[in-house]
Amino acid sequence: MPRIVILVPGKIHERVLTRLKESFDVIEADPSTLDAETAGKIRGVAVSGTFNAGAIDKLPNVELISSFGVGYDGIDAKHAAAKGVIVTNTPDVLNDEVADTTIGLLLNTIRELPRAENWLRAGNWKRGQNYPLSRFSLKGRHVGIYGLGRIGQEIAKRLEPFKVRISYHTRTRHPDSPYGYYPSLKDLAGAVDTLISIVPKTPQTHKTINAEILSALGPDGVFINVGRGWTVDEDALAQALRSGTISAAGLDVYYDEPDVPASLLDLPNAVLLPHLASGSVPTRNAMADLVVDNLVDWFGKGRALTPVPETPAKG
Ligand code: NDP
Repeated sequence: MPRIVILVPGKIHERVLTRLKESFDVIEADPSTLDAETAGKIRGVAVSGTFNAGAIDKLPNVELISSFGVGYDGIDAKHAAAKGVIVTNTPDVLNDEVADTTIGLLLNTIRELPRAENWLRAGNWKRGQNYPLSRFSLKGRHVGIYGLGRIGQEIAKRLEPFKVRISYHTRTRHPDSPYGYYPSLKDLAGAVDTLISIVPKTPQTHKTINAEILSALGPDGVFINVGRGWTVDEDALAQALRSGTISAAGLDVYYDEPDVPASLLDLPNAVLLPHLASGSVPTRNAMADLVVDNLVDWFGKGRALTPVPETPAKG
């Protein structure tokens, strides 16, 4: 019996390809380059990055698009839903890694640890100097979490032993949460001195971290972004960091990756990471396995393991 054909439209984790080839025939190609006969054979897609409406329309018999990563803003899930195509993502298996990275980024930003290391490597310590005391401490801070979903909740749990006060903003209140709820982002930013953004890229979150929010955060303010760069007005952020409207920022994600604006690169009070929050070998392997397992379970048992909310969870 011929094997089911899966399309891999671009670069993807090597483990996805290796495991897919154990169970399926795999075509690695841009969908726009496929002839109609080949396109008609494709029943599943494994993708890391974007898969738009045009790509979906090119595949008349596609049943499931398995996307690498929990954020699936690159996939046109609404269009997929309209055509009865399931979209899956890789939630939960990366929560711990992303939350751990967030705490590391927060400490690095507040205590200026990367700058201190550069200072040591430049030979300043052995010349008899002492590294200047960091202006701030995590101790006594009030941390606001913008987005208390799967990852936001893990960040909050990790913050508890640091004895900081924790509050959050989401559209829906979590009635059983021990943390303070603010019904608007502006109220949260005004109440806290440390703001962590871990919301998805949606039309509603576009540039919501803007001059007004940064001004509300205030001169002792520290801003951390591990969600999406889309959420931040980067010009306003660079200006706020330059002028002292806020004190420091730690960023893992940017508006137009991998282009990090010079206005941020030039700032000494910004700690900048190259979108690596989930980037360890074990966590990326677990994400790769979930990409493949969604396809294996769909075609073997008729159920998708982790469908996104826009597409029906059949099976
Ligand atoms: P979830 O869907 O579990 O949580 C999202 C949270 O954001 C919810 O609490 C939701 O609450 C809140 N939210 C969504 N829209 C809004 C809004 N307009 N205003 C206020 N709050 C909002 O997602 P995860 O925690 O699993 O992941 C979050 C995002 O983190 C991903 O979408 C991805 O973009 C990013 N991410 C980044 C990584 C990195 O490498 N830096 C790695 C992994 C994820 P409510 O709906 O009630 O508003």
